[in-house]
Amino acid sequence: MEHMAQEVRGVIAAGKDEPVRVETIVVPDPGPGEAVVQVQACGVCHTDLHYKQGAISDDFPFLLGHEAAGIVESVGDGVTDVAPGDFVILNWRAVCGQCRACLRGRPWYCFDTHNAKQKMTLAATGQELSPALGIGAFAEKTLVAAGQCTKVDPAVSPQVAGLLGCGVMAGIGAAINTGNVGRGDSVAVIGCGGVGDAAIAGSRLAGASKIVAVDIDDRKLEKAREMGATHTVNSRETDPVEAIRELTGGFGADVVIEAVGRPETYQQAFYARDLAGTVVLVGVPTPEMKLELPLLDVFGRGGALKSSWYGDCLPSRDFPMLIDLHLQGRLDLGAFVTETIALTDVEKAFERMHHGDVLRSVVVF
Ligand SMILES: [Zn+2]
Ligand SMILES: [Zn+2]
Repeated sequence: MEHMAQEVRGVIAAGKDEPVRVETIVVPDPGPGEAVVQVQACGVCHTDLHYKQGAISDDFPFLLGHEAAGIVESVGDGVTDVAPGDFVILNWRAVCGQCRACLRGRPWYCFDTHNAKQKMTLAATGQELSPALGIGAFAEKTLVAAGQCTKVDPAVSPQVAGLLGCGVMAGIGAAINTGNVGRGDSVAVIGCGGVGDAAIAGSRLAGASKIVAVDIDDRKLEKAREMGATHTVNSRETDPVEAIRELTGGFGADVVIEAVGRPETYQQAFYARDLAGTVVLVGVPTPEMKLELPLLDVFGRGGALKSSWYGDCLPSRDFPMLIDLHLQGRLDLGAFVTETIALTDVEKAFERMHHGDVLRSVVVF
């Protein structure tokens, strides 16, 4: 597999709050343990916007995009799990197999996940790029660690498959992996963006008999119903804790999934939960936020208060399974795609996302 480093187009955030631009980037040949993937589709996620805003790190320039699917074009030495021609979903937690979590048989918690070692660069200046979440898939091709590629059934459309790589997996996993939602459970989901809607879809898949969706936007509640919510609560008009208790015989839900990441909504989740129930935090807070709860209530209400990293997913286990369920018509991943756009439209898609007009815009190549 002799060929040269390639030049392709990619979406670059050059500096804090600057509009993103399409630039020519250099993608090296894959080294040991690496793969070059020809990207077919990549969703626009809030995390990409946060990179552009400088809210994640100062390592500009960023190559944005991380919810992607595509075809493996070439692999480096020692790569055996994927081969050129494979259809894959990219993940941002390639497990190491050697850390204390992996060695205890809990690789979904891997404490030492990795990315490609070589750097992609800007063709014009030779500057090294920081790929968003170690992926950088708003580009015709990207270089990743081979472990970031998970093979799935190629019958699925790339624009649907790519979404599993981030927010949709985080939400489904918050319900089925972290929250352990099972048949007959009552579930409440606070915050109905992409992640919250995925938690609703995951709860339905797992057999929850009651799914209460909470948001402050009626458009989002309507969408949540499509995803499987059996009841909706607009928390601008109604106290969500009261409403969830009322809908669950006065007790609270077995599992409450907090998909906002704020102290107020976490407190709602905490008190909307039945005795010995579970709270799952999947919304991502900011550094200045503080949580205050009476410690006696934390003890007296029992159960579990959990956080969900990337839906506690194991890509090699969860991606193929969820794609199969989608292909069987049991999980409508297509419902998350609001629109498909071109590589040059990412900046506009950020604006629409910011205004809450879309669930997901997906760049299709
Ligand atoms: Zn590990
Ligand atoms: Zn994402």
